[in-house]
Amino acid sequence: MLTYEEALQAIHSESARIERQEELVDLEESAFRVLAKPLTAPFDLPRFNNSAVDGFGVLVEDLNGDAEAVLTLKSTIAAGDGNGHQTLKSGECIKILTGAPVPDWVEAVVMREFCQEAADTVKVKARVRIGENIRMTGEELEEGATVLEAGTLLSPPALGLAATAGAAHVTCYSQPRICIVSSGDELKEPGQPLSASQIYNSNSYAVEAALKGLYWRSENIKRLHTADEPQAVRETLKAALEDCRVLITLGGVSVGDRDFIKPVLEETGVRTVFWKIAIKPGKPVYFAVTAAGQLIFGLPGNPVSALITFHLFVKPALKILMGDKTPPPPLTTLKARLTASLKKKAGRLDFVRARLQADEAGNLSVTPTTGQDSHMLSGLASANALINFESHLEYLPEGATVTVMPLSWSW
Ligand code: AMP
Ligand code: MG
Repeated sequence: MLTYEEALQAIHSESARIERQEELVDLEESAFRVLAKPLTAPFDLPRFNNSAVDGFGVLVEDLNGDAEAVLTLKSTIAAGDGNGHQTLKSGECIKILTGAPVPDWVEAVVMREFCQEAADTVKVKARVRIGENIRMTGEELEEGATVLEAGTLLSPPALGLAATAGAAHVTCYSQPRICIVSSGDELKEPGQPLSASQIYNSNSYAVEAALKGLYWRSENIKRLHTADEPQAVRETLKAALEDCRVLITLGGVSVGDRDFIKPVLEETGVRTVFWKIAIKPGKPVYFAVTAAGQLIFGLPGNPVSALITFHLFVKPALKILMGDKTPPPPLTTLKARLTASLKKKAGRLDFVRARLQADEAGNLSVTPTTGQDSHMLSGLASANALINFESHLEYLPEGATVTVMPLSWSW
């Protein structure tokens, strides 16, 4: 069986080989997409000298005496105004509001808070330096400089920066289409009546929600279901692969008599990269690649296993497929104090669902949630972290320092 790290490594290298497509995206549709082309500044940022404060534009020598200066107020420049053509003579000032252009003949802007304004005079008691409170042209980025590099995830500030540079459209990597195939004769969709031995299909919905947490668009997600019968599995997987870049199957991938996903995929000629990982939950994970460069993730059917293996393995692959060049997981880990002892058998890395908390001093502690079995979604729903209970260990005492992965259902 592969270790967690080996499985992740295999997924990284297969995902990195997949060819990416690009498309032009309206800026307002581009949140959390990844830039495929760098964005360069079409002009200096800031584009013109402007005021960082509401205040008065002055000549420095008028203020830096010991006494309070009394200046003649000439006019006002507000944000969006032209900067006028007059100049400032000694003893004069001009009112300038935040974001308003600062004319070259203004040497500094004194904050309004240091001034007493009357009808046409302003009393100022403050010392200023040249350029004070003036945001200088190009101080952030010069025209032609790279605003955002290719491979940047358009987070709110990154997207805001693209807008600042006036980009109405951005070239992003295309979102690959993803097909989710659930399997199982026992499954019904929520809303349908259940017989005594049937349960509701939760995985398809949970995994679709996980994709939406990664800003996958509905039109790029398809859900199918197959009965546990080889011909049905064959037909459903064929239909799925005709129409997606990434196939996520749910259930039917373990060693049961009715687990047909893996043999049927292999019969179609996919290349199996691995089957089974020494982790808990999630041991039966299957990973394969088609000749056409589609990635296939066979996730286990137990609802907790399906979501945790999505988080551990599918999410990093999608990060690579969508072109995000920030380093892929192993996810960030922290150290925290365990508040209750844990036991297991040696041989598999156990991802224990847990709540991570900081006390007032900032010390982190972590508490396993109630409902650790892999069919108990409640234990995962209340978790915000996974404790890495390492493979070789059998016992972790209360108070032990453990490695924890914060668990987020977004990027
Ligand atoms: P399997 O991996 O198909 O053997 O399924 C393992 C367990 O997960 C069984 O108890 C199944 O009933 C359950 N299961 C499988 N698929 C789903 C699903 N889509 N929604 C909810 N439970 C499922
Ligand atoms: Mg099944």
